[in-house]
Amino acid sequence: MIQDILPRHFDNQWRDIVPEPGDTCLVCHDNTVLCRRLDDGTILFPSLEDLHGDPTLATYLFSIDQEKFFLLPHLSVTAPVGYAYEDMRVFRQASPRYYAFAGITGHQLYQWYREHRFCGRCSGALVKDHKERMLKCPHCGTVVYPVICPAVIVAVVDKDRILLSKYAGRGPNPRYALIAGFNEIGETIEETVHREVMEEVGLKVKNLQFYKSQPWSFSGSLLFGFFAELDGSDEITLQEDELSEAAFHTADEVPENTEQVALTWEMMEKFRNGYRPYGSSKITAE
Ligand SMILES: [Zn+2]
Repeated sequence: MIQDILPRHFDNQWRDIVPEPGDTCLVCHDNTVLCRRLDDGTILFPSLEDLHGDPTLATYLFSIDQEKFFLLPHLSVTAPVGYAYEDMRVFRQASPRYYAFAGITGHQLYQWYREHRFCGRCSGALVKDHKERMLKCPHCGTVVYPVICPAVIVAVVDKDRILLSKYAGRGPNPRYALIAGFNEIGETIEETVHREVMEEVGLKVKNLQFYKSQPWSFSGSLLFGFFAELDGSDEITLQEDELSEAAFHTADEVPENTEQVALTWEMMEKFRNGYRPYGSSKITAE
């Protein structure tokens, strides 16, 4: 998955520092990030020196191993020759993987800083705290932390069949997906699983098995992946404003994983490769 960057280490501890000339800078503008794409799919980010950037305008983001990443406002720099503002979607396929992860994670922080410039309580300008990644209002004392939205990815399984769906309104041939949705206030993450499955396909599930979680900066969320066993009828009632199709499929009908970035695809791949969390309905010949 996109966050799996071993042997490299992602260190997100806040540091109140300014960049050196050779430090890496992410420059974001709406849904794009300034980078250089080579013919083989490799991406490069500019250094402060490449950008002739003003270090006092930079915000520290995180480090990967010894490489420090900073955010620079796009209006403060001119793109160096060979660099362009690339849509976030390039990070789904880009290499090296740790740069793709840095790009999406930095972009999530960019959005948070951009959308939290003023205090929601008194409308005063927010300032950065020196000790942690936090914004505070010097007028009324309100503090603001990065926003992370919990959401679920659910593989509904009926023995040798897995429920695959396609989103509505995503072009002529959207990729297969699993049931997904955001956690609502006052709800446990398990309740989110039951509610989303019922809302999207009208099915009941039981025996939830937590699989893995994934930070998914494309939607500012933390995904909780669950396998869930079909409970009772397999008659699907489609939520048509969300999904264009949903049906149970056998493993040989599950498409092969090509991108290897998303939790959804890892869970589908696991099932395709023989994982049967609730047993098999096939009678094995002796
Ligand atoms: Zn305030």
